Amino acid sequence: MKRPPSTLTQPALRLIVRCYLRRLGEEHRADRVRAVFNSRLRTAIGRSDPGRGRIYLNPRLLDRYPQELIPTLVHELCHVVAGLRAGHGPRWKGLMRRLGFPPDVYHDLDVDGLDLRRGRRAARAARPHRRPAARR
Ligand SMILES: [Zn+2]
Repeated sequence: MKRPPSTLTQPALRLIVRCYLRRLGEEHRADRVRAVFNSRLRTAIGRSDPGRGRIYLNPRLLDRYPQELIPTLVHELCHVVAGLRAGHGPRWKGLMRRLGFPPDVYHDLDVDGLDLRRGRRAARAARPHRRPAARR
């Protein structure tokens, strides 16, 4: 059995972040972007603070749905690169496409109690863990 994502070391996460930043021509940001697991995330599988260059990953959900690790990391990384005010607008979508990920946020789903910031599979994944929570 493979190791759960939350056991990834900080150097491993840094490497992944650097790899995707390089593909965007944004490798100069690598030292200022950090992805960390944060067990305070509940329904959100990921979250970002573009101002601080921080990406927060939900260890419980990602250990349950390890296939969401890279899509989540990329989603949040694109927020960091696009900037807070870009939201899920054209700039963020363009970055997602350049990294080969569909720029979906699925606002058309039943989003009540779901995280708007992730794809369809992740939304399904989050459903058993629903909780009203502010997400950004
Ligand atoms: Zn988002």
